[in-house]
Amino acid sequence: MTAPAEPAKWLQSVQQAVRKDAGRKLTPALKRWRNTLSADETPLDLEPAVARFLLRFGVLDAGDDSAAQREAYVRHVRACARGTGDAPGVIGAWLGAFARGEYGVLPDGVCGAEPQCARCTLCESCRYTAAGAREERVSTEDLARKLLDAGAAPATAEAVDLLALLCGEARSGAALRARLAAVLRETGGLRGLLHAAPADLRKAGLNEAAAARMRAAAALFRLWADEQAPRGQSFASGQDFYEHYRLRVRDLKKERFFVACLDQKHRLIGEDQVSEGSLTETLVHPREVFGPALRLGAAAIAVVHNHPSGDPKPSRADRALTKRLQEAAELIGIRLLDHVIVGDGAFTSFVEEGLL
Ligand code: SF4
Repeated sequence: MTAPAEPAKWLQSVQQAVRKDAGRKLTPALKRWRNTLSADETPLDLEPAVARFLLRFGVLDAGDDSAAQREAYVRHVRACARGTGDAPGVIGAWLGAFARGEYGVLPDGVCGAEPQCARCTLCESCRYTAAGAREERVSTEDLARKLLDAGAAPATAEAVDLLALLCGEARSGAALRARLAAVLRETGGLRGLLHAAPADLRKAGLNEAAAARMRAAAALFRLWADEQAPRGQSFASGQDFYEHYRLRVRDLKKERFFVACLDQKHRLIGEDQVSEGSLTETLVHPREVFGPALRLGAAAIAVVHNHPSGDPKPSRADRALTKRLQEAAELIGIRLLDHVIVGDGAFTSFVEEGLL
């Protein structure tokens, strides 16, 4: 659901909501606004409370920086002024009354720190309520408790809620969810977010502290993906090797070539990175591939490498290398179990393709 295209229409709804709440107490405020804010050159500052309302409603974009948001605000207010004949400063005052209250008229505003969605005349077209938040705002403390609860399945939590926890925000309402959804869009999804440079994270709408936490989480995920499997993990298929290596290599810009050393029962007894760089440039020599296996007394090896293009289809160089390794394996007496190429969400197993 999107906000109404016609600014004068949603301003009318804002005015209705303020009038409904303030009643007659509004009359002196209206006079004061007309007397002090009717000049065309009244400065149009975007107050934080008004920005919060416009972000919730969907008029401002959370992905924009503050200068762009202010520009959009001025544009909308001027469009309202053209549509209603009211001065821009007076329109700003209506929005302020709605978003933060007005001294002696509305104590807190309708769309204040705790939005009164059930009583709000904008409810039908508001992005905040469309996101399903209505009155309830989930505190991130509650979310943390749920995740720590032994019965809860963290895998079912939504990315924006987990990001809200990471960002250290106290509450995870729809406005924050919408802002984080915009950050995800800006950075190209979770993978983009975890690889984004600090400047891009800030540009996407994260503050300094949240950007630093996001970088820390990304570094932690990389360490986790790189952590070697415990000795004894067994491998029965190309899928097993793919699952074991995919997180480690899927976003790399260069090819990396690994050798997994296995015992008689195909249990892992060690692994090594043999080379980095395109296989056409960096020759993967059988001596380097079988060296770790000989040292560990392995009965078999499997070799695994990634294709940064994401397409796991074996190249001519991949096939030639596999043939060379197979010949060396026969000579040395160590079985070459498989050659697995990891792509983006897909893999090729030389054995399963009948190439080995
Ligand atoms: S529906 Fe709720 S969030 Fe949306 S403008 Fe109204 S009070 Fe604010």
